[in-house]
Amino acid sequence: MDAAIAKVQPLASARTVRGPFDYELSGPLRQTVDVGSLLLVPFGGRQLLGVVVALAQHSEVDAHRLLQPVRELNLSVPADLVALSDWIAAEYCSTVARSLRLVLPPAITRGQRNGRPRALKAQRPTHESVGVLRGRPETLTEDQACVLAQLRSAMRSRAPQQILLHGVTGSGKTEVYLQATSEALASGRGAIVLVPEISLTPQTTSRFIARFGETVAVMHSQLKPSERREEWRRLRTGQARICVGPRSAVFAPIDSLGLIVLDEEHDASYKHEGDPRYDAREVAAMRASTSGALLIAGSATPRPESMHAMSVLRLSSRVDGRSLPPVRVLDMRGHSGRLHPRSVEALAKTRQAQGKAIVLLNRRGWSSFLSCRACGRVWLCPECDVALVLHRAARRLSCHHCGHSAPVPQRCDCGSSTLARHGLGTERLAHDLDAVLGDALRFPVFRLDADTARAGGAEVLSEFERARAGILVGTQMVAKGHDFSDVALGIVLDADATLRFPDFRAEERTFALIAQLAGRVGRGGDGEVLVQTIDPGARAIQHAAAHDSDGFIAGELARRRALRYPPYSHLIRVICGSESAEQASGACAALARQLTSLRQEGTTILGPASLAKLRGRQRSAIVLKASERRRAVQAVERVLLELSRSRAHEGVSFAVDVDPQ
Ligand code: ADP
Ligand code: ZN
Ligand code: ZN
Repeated sequence: MDAAIAKVQPLASARTVRGPFDYELSGPLRQTVDVGSLLLVPFGGRQLLGVVVALAQHSEVDAHRLLQPVRELNLSVPADLVALSDWIAAEYCSTVARSLRLVLPPAITRGQRNGRPRALKAQRPTHESVGVLRGRPETLTEDQACVLAQLRSAMRSRAPQQILLHGVTGSGKTEVYLQATSEALASGRGAIVLVPEISLTPQTTSRFIARFGETVAVMHSQLKPSERREEWRRLRTGQARICVGPRSAVFAPIDSLGLIVLDEEHDASYKHEGDPRYDAREVAAMRASTSGALLIAGSATPRPESMHAMSVLRLSSRVDGRSLPPVRVLDMRGHSGRLHPRSVEALAKTRQAQGKAIVLLNRRGWSSFLSCRACGRVWLCPECDVALVLHRAARRLSCHHCGHSAPVPQRCDCGSSTLARHGLGTERLAHDLDAVLGDALRFPVFRLDADTARAGGAEVLSEFERARAGILVGTQMVAKGHDFSDVALGIVLDADATLRFPDFRAEERTFALIAQLAGRVGRGGDGEVLVQTIDPGARAIQHAAAHDSDGFIAGELARRRALRYPPYSHLIRVICGSESAEQASGACAALARQLTSLRQEGTTILGPASLAKLRGRQRSAIVLKASERRRAVQAVERVLLELSRSRAHEGVSFAVDVDPQ
């Protein structure tokens, strides 16, 4: 400290504002301002919040033109997070200002309220309320002990390392995370535990709170801003040393970090969809490596990328010693019904035996689209090129891309009132199963998808858990890491639906979906999984049925190597959007031309290709396949800056997605 000049990045959202800018420090500010300090600074006639990214004794700016900060806030961001946001801006083709917003204290513009947050108290079970089954087990399994010994020695060496914990579902990975966290605390260091979605995986969070109490801070999107702010403050002051939360918890202000855990590392929610489009798994790896922390990525269905890049430790059997449930593939070709006779029979048996079943259909709503029987019209979203989905209870047709919704029409513009519903969604499936098998008291049917989760996904899960028997119907949400003790049957409908997505990760997703559902079944008893498909020979389905994760990943890596997909390249997608399709494709073509003229070695450009309209914007995109990511991102950034300044492409927006999901 005691510097004359603060280099400040003002938090302006415009892409064209590049910083940092010099401000003169005088009087007491010289003693207090440091890297990470938050200052209110005059900027372009306004006052903006800014972050000090460096200090200096001299400035290149004329002394009489140097401005002074208006005031300093009594909060600051850790210096290592300032450096991390710089890396994020460069890596994901964003701006430093947008990246710095990720590491700011929550609700920075609001007043700070005091006192313990209310929701958190409710969220924080005591040892008693959690029960002693959930406490520290007396002995570890042999596998667990062996893995932990290696993790401990990795942590003691303090050399940054990345370890993939490939453990079958129910093999006790969470216990390993808990004990590794103890190790970090014992050596005076902190830990970050990233989980996919807290509202759907409350068990992991509860187990951390039960074990470590007040030392855990929970970052939860459903907390009030003041509560998030309080959790942030407890971490910043060192009162709390463990942060459990979804992807944004990777920015938790923890000093001397010893461990970052990525639970269910295959989960797509680790990728952020707004600018900067960061991937929390990569940010975690970067943060772990700069702070000398150990990174543990755990999953029963790890990504081929992680298998390729990390050292692998295994937990190959379930804690309870039970084997994984048999998975049977049911060929739906030639079957007109929604359920295979074998599925109908298995559900009826489950009902008779008063057991529990989970039925997964990865499509929500009542039916996927509506058409007029007379003229053939299909109801489409006016803003996007997709069919509107019928939601019967809400009596709306909704777009699953932009959220547009309209009342269900009674008749078509052609005068006909015979409208046909096509395709099955979870709302209808739950309704139909309830009509045939349901019994509110003895065999209730529950539904979990984005629609019911809005009203409380955790409640649906805990009601199903508490019920003595019944069916849980839902989208991929039902296959997250829930630890149900007594589900005997799992059924996947339309298992190849995810395979039909034009995406090189389609197979990986399909494999994970089936394997993860199988993971919820047969814990504490016998179980069986039925997979309905019209593509029974599909590689992903066959490997999932054989519980052969290694075989699947080996094949997947070979395929990706041949096609030069990640991890053997990086993909960078640039989407040009405009009100006019010509404008969008024109800008995209110019972009492709300019990038081609740079002749970057190891970079191929695919496209331009037009994409479906989204939110009223016509879109066109290119994809770069690059061996060197940073260099390709820099090239894209340079070309985009030029294009966005040129008159010819006015009104065109550019979105860059590095390693899109
Ligand atoms: P995973 O995260 O691999 O799916 P969990 O950590 O949820 O598995 O463990 C499955 C169940 O086994 C949990 O109920 C957990 O409390 C219990 N468990 C974990 N380790 C042990 C152990 N060493 N002894 C007894 N029970 C254990
Ligand atoms: Zn019609
Ligand atoms: Zn739409």
